[in-house]
Amino acid sequence: MFNNLSDKLDKALHVLKGHGSITEVNVAETLKEVRRALLDADVNFKIAKEFTNKVKEKALGQNVLTTLQPGQLMVKIVKDELTELMGGDAEGINLSGNPSVILMSGLQGSGKTTFSGKLANYLKNKKTKKPLLVACDVYRPAAIDQLHVVGEQIGVEVFSDRGNNDPVAISKAGIAHAKANGHNVVIIDTAGRLAVDEAMMTEISNIHKAIEPQETLFVVDSMTGQDAVNTAKAFNDILNFDGVILTKLDGDTRGGAAISIKSVVNKPIKFIGTGEKMEAIDVFYPSRMADRILG
Ligand code: GDP
Repeated sequence: MFNNLSDKLDKALHVLKGHGSITEVNVAETLKEVRRALLDADVNFKIAKEFTNKVKEKALGQNVLTTLQPGQLMVKIVKDELTELMGGDAEGINLSGNPSVILMSGLQGSGKTTFSGKLANYLKNKKTKKPLLVACDVYRPAAIDQLHVVGEQIGVEVFSDRGNNDPVAISKAGIAHAKANGHNVVIIDTAGRLAVDEAMMTEISNIHKAIEPQETLFVVDSMTGQDAVNTAKAFNDILNFDGVILTKLDGDTRGGAAISIKSVVNKPIKFIGTGEKMEAIDVFYPSRMADRILG
């Protein structure tokens, strides 16, 4: 994960990690390298610039150069800022409803259906949760089949209504079915498109208004870099969602989406997807991710 970015940051911080004396000049050089590494990872220019400015400010504020171990302190400041940029403390999902309704949103291919299954499995394994998956993609019969396959794999019931082309009605019927059958979590998988378009936005917005979910999650493919961030912004403008799910972090992703998305939409990344299997789900911890990135 993020090998290229980690290598570049490691090289950038090399001097500070105790190789050679530390001066104002090489701190400035280091920050320039850090910024370059972030840009190469597809982090938005403004965010990369703000990031290094903040690190610089903190370093000045703490009189880094006069401390006993200036290099280590600088590395710590970079790590703390990276953690902050990705979201600070980890946040869970709201499961206070009965049933708790979780609405999944995102583009087609982002990994919504796969993640819906992963989340259902994750919650089911918590014993106190009995999830129901609801298939609301009325355009692609294959998407409904896919959710049924996933449901069977993890032993979670799937509610669908083939032939019904009203996703609002299906989601409401799904919630009613959950209530009648003792499901305390409902995960609603919706239709995506290949790109943001008005019809999709109207549809997801209508579902959102009609069912008032406890939790609205936006799923995005981390391989799509800055596009991921732009898509997140478009969905957030419409849904004011509660959290982001970053998928495909097992692939050769550069890291830009993971680093930038929180500060653009001001919503936490809650989970990550790290593979196609149902078990490939992890809670997102910004500080652990920063540790991983900085090696
Ligand atoms: P949807 O159209 O948003 O419902 O996306 P899907 O759930 O159908 O996922 C699209 C493709 O991405 C499928 O081939 C999934 O197996 C794959 N996929 C989903 N999540 C991950 C992940 O975390 N890692 C990898 N490597 N593949 C994933």
